[in-house]
Amino acid sequence: MIEVKEVTGTNSQTKTTDNSIFSHPSFSKHEQVVFCYDEKTGLKSIIAVHSTVLGPALGGTRMWKYASEADALKDVLRLSRGMTYKAAISGLNLGGGKAVIIGDSKKDKSEALFRKYGQFVNRLGGTYITAEDVGTNVNDMEYVSKETKNVSGLQGKSGDPSPVTAYGVYMGMKASAKHKWGNDSLAGKTIGVQGVGHVGEYLVELLAKENAKIIISDINEEQLKHVATKYGAEVVSLDGIYDVNMDIYAPCALGASVNTDTLNRLKCSIIAGSANNQLADETIHGMMVMEKGIIYAPDFLINAGGLINVYSELEGYNREKAMEATRKIYDVTLEILKKSDAEKIPTINSAKQIAEKRIADKLKSQTV
Ligand code: NAD
Repeated sequence: MIEVKEVTGTNSQTKTTDNSIFSHPSFSKHEQVVFCYDEKTGLKSIIAVHSTVLGPALGGTRMWKYASEADALKDVLRLSRGMTYKAAISGLNLGGGKAVIIGDSKKDKSEALFRKYGQFVNRLGGTYITAEDVGTNVNDMEYVSKETKNVSGLQGKSGDPSPVTAYGVYMGMKASAKHKWGNDSLAGKTIGVQGVGHVGEYLVELLAKENAKIIISDINEEQLKHVATKYGAEVVSLDGIYDVNMDIYAPCALGASVNTDTLNRLKCSIIAGSANNQLADETIHGMMVMEKGIIYAPDFLINAGGLINVYSELEGYNREKAMEATRKIYDVTLEILKKSDAEKIPTINSAKQIAEKRIADKLKSQTV
């Protein structure tokens, strides 16, 4: 069994946390988990290949200043599993994987670090294909591409996936509106967007074009001001967004913002955003959302636009085809919301069942 021992404290006080992998609460039959370390560049990374049943495990590389190695491990295990669901429900011939680099994306980046990381990706021989994610960008991926061909989302090819992701979220949001109100117009609806980074800003742009009333929050003051001024959005405090009267809450920052505390405060009819793993606990909060009569558009379904875009790069990039495939998120969202109503199950379960069936069918057809 692989173990990560996290040792903190000074001479007399040493705390050891046992983070076993196979019995880790977020371990979900992952095929491979690789720990990558390089002293010279300071690289500390974990690559998690959750599934390759439907194809190579494609998923971005997140660079984040994790509070602990245990947090990084939990994140990569959860994110990689989400990628499996995302690819499966989107009908892509891809498995699910993800990687994290432990570090401050503002201070710790270097060409050498990303090239070393690229070497580790290369060693996996195509089992894992990487791309950008929170904290990494197209330039970083250019460095990675000097060491491996197993990287996508490069300059001059499919590029930044964020506008396509935002379009998919918008489609999922409109389908949820149609299901809730019988009409998919977002005009006049109050929509709270948490996090106006790459995806959040493109989403705000689409919502502004439709004359929605937009409320935003972000830890990045400069970006917050820029988006507020450009699109006429109202700014609320980081914590205040959970208390605003709104029709739709769109989490576009990090995961777990839908939890017991926030669900007791949120006053909205729909939750639809780009963040991965929005429900802090899928079982508890999937059910809680349903009992509160809130429609939850499953994150891995409606934020699949970026993956669809990157996937099309592997097949010879065509922007129009990628946008058309992303538009279908509308139809799949409607199908899942109807299934969830009919079977009286949380929407996340309904979406997972469809994804799991596709994987099970493929497994049945394999001999080994
Ligand atoms: P980003 O880093 O560009 O934007 C995230 C924004 O959230 C930043 O502006 C950041 O300052 C802000 N933020 C962080 N913590 C916050 C908090 N507590 N409250 C409010 N704002 C906060 O990332 P992105 O590419 O826009 O992705 C946003 C989310 O969508 C992430 O969870 C990402 O995994 C997910 N996602 C992105 C894509 C994509 O194509 N970029 C695809 C699928 C999923």
